Amino acid sequence: MSRYECIDFKVVLSAYLDGELAAPGRADADRHLLACRQCRDLLENAERSDEAIRALCARDPAFAERAGVRRSTLYRHFPDEASLFDACSSHWNAANPPPDLAEWAGIDDPDERLERALPELYGFYRRTEPMLANLLRDEATNENVQRHFGAFRGYMDAARNVLMQGRHDRGQARSRVRAAIGHALAFETWRSLVREQGLGNVQDAKLMGGFVRATAGARAARR
Ligand SMILES: [Zn+2]
Repeated sequence: MSRYECIDFKVVLSAYLDGELAAPGRADADRHLLACRQCRDLLENAERSDEAIRALCARDPAFAERAGVRRSTLYRHFPDEASLFDACSSHWNAANPPPDLAEWAGIDDPDERLERALPELYGFYRRTEPMLANLLRDEATNENVQRHFGAFRGYMDAARNVLMQGRHDRGQARSRVRAAIGHALAFETWRSLVREQGLGNVQDAKLMGGFVRATAGARAARR
């Protein structure tokens, strides 16, 4: 059997706190605690707050299953599934911040701003693809996901507004540019370019940047 490490204790911490560890697991944990000051401190902290559980949840939402902890144990620390989901997603958001819209807004020229924005956003999609794909898949059937994804859609609307700043198209031309930008920003668009069309890093942003510029330029050319 491999050596009992701090990570082994962290995995069973919630069960340990709730007295749900079977005797052999508890004995292993107790032996480790006697020898490990760090884990004693961790346990002390966890007893005072549910922060440890939130942290584990953020690192690996499936840890409860791996550790053999019943979901009810986890839920005891949270009033309901929604607050557990919120705790997990706020940790996830903190670890995976989307591009800073204020920085985009600081660029005066709309085409230059778009050139900066698309690679940043597509880089974010590349880093977070599995999570975003799961959220998209579950959005229609899970109200917690709907709520969480609602915030993300709010961010996307704000991103599109920032990229529309300084564009002078009016009427239907403006609607087309707005739609082109919204389409270029969408996760589904990036995914199609990269997963279905096999485009690489950089090329994806170049293609969509050109698409928006062509849409915005179509009116200027006819004028
Ligand atoms: Zn330890």
